[in-house]
Amino acid sequence: MIGKFDERGEREIDGTGHLVLPPFVESHIHLDTVLTAGEPAWNESGTLFEGIRLWQKRKETLTYEDVMSRAERVLQMQLAAGILHVRTQADISDPDLTALHALLALRERVKPYMNLQVIAFPQDGLRACPDNVQRLEQALKLGADGIGAIPHLEPTREEGLASLEICFAMAQKYGCFVHVFCDEIDDAHSTFLESTAHLAIRTGLRERVTVAHASAAAYYGEAYFHKVLGLLARSGVNVVCCPLINSAMQGRFDGYPKGRGITRIKDLWSAGVNVSIAHDDIRTPFYPMGTGSVLQAAHMAAHLAHMMGRDEVAELVRMITTRGAKTLQLEDYGLQVGHRANFIVLPGRDAMDLVSNQPSCRYVVSQGHIVAETWPARSQLYTPI
Ligand SMILES: [Zn+2]
Repeated sequence: MIGKFDERGEREIDGTGHLVLPPFVESHIHLDTVLTAGEPAWNESGTLFEGIRLWQKRKETLTYEDVMSRAERVLQMQLAAGILHVRTQADISDPDLTALHALLALRERVKPYMNLQVIAFPQDGLRACPDNVQRLEQALKLGADGIGAIPHLEPTREEGLASLEICFAMAQKYGCFVHVFCDEIDDAHSTFLESTAHLAIRTGLRERVTVAHASAAAYYGEAYFHKVLGLLARSGVNVVCCPLINSAMQGRFDGYPKGRGITRIKDLWSAGVNVSIAHDDIRTPFYPMGTGSVLQAAHMAAHLAHMMGRDEVAELVRMITTRGAKTLQLEDYGLQVGHRANFIVLPGRDAMDLVSNQPSCRYVVSQGHIVAETWPARSQLYTPI
């Protein structure tokens, strides 16, 4: 618990030259696919299609222990990077729900110091793979925190809309989160962002609804984009942008000039939409890099979204802290007397230092305990300047 400042702690740490922030939030990641890059082969073209082909093969060897050990390693990386809140997707497209079972067990195990939300994710669609409808419901009965849909990958636009209706009806029944894979395609005709915002209003689920990616919005005409923007702002829907994987995956069909691959973060933010930035994939067939640090994702967003002003960079840090917390609908988040003592200590004077230098967290404190500590690297020069 964060107490009054005149109370003394058991151990005192020197915070000189450091910033204290509430913990980082990872608002969209697939812990069931992490650390599989190169298995069975590397994605040499870097395209989504080769990624899907490789993942289909890798999926055949998926076991409970396999998911558990890879997800555990990534949670360790995230903990060291100051992330105490994670929303993960769990693909439910296999009949045994292997990934879901592993990630739900992991959620319980890390509960004392880390908060994991598990979203049942129908990677193969709900209309294209009707078995997934019953699996979504089964996932909720097993304790999943929310469900998703992937409307832009259903066979037709009509089927995409039908998949959203199924997802929202079920979420309404169970009162769970909705986390839609939305318009992750460079296609101006992919307009499920609009449909999701409308359904969020109609069902009253509003802030409990999140869309991830929404990359197609960058291809909409201005008049249509501004219409959707108004609807989105009124709906309360959260938008998660994943600038690392999307800058690498999107724009592949564009001629020059090529699209940047991400949604219109700055316009969404200016219109009052809650936007968070996520790291997403870590070393998968779809994205072979990544450290887990959300500062790295914020750094990429600063470039791709043209957000280099001091206020804009400060906003990017909010997108990996307080705005991420809003996406996850966290209560008791933030540095306030009476809140749980969850915070991170990093070297730097301001947000610009953090996004520019992407420092390691000196200390990560969860529930009043130091759960991770990183010693800063020191360079020794052997030549006069
Ligand atoms: Zn994703």
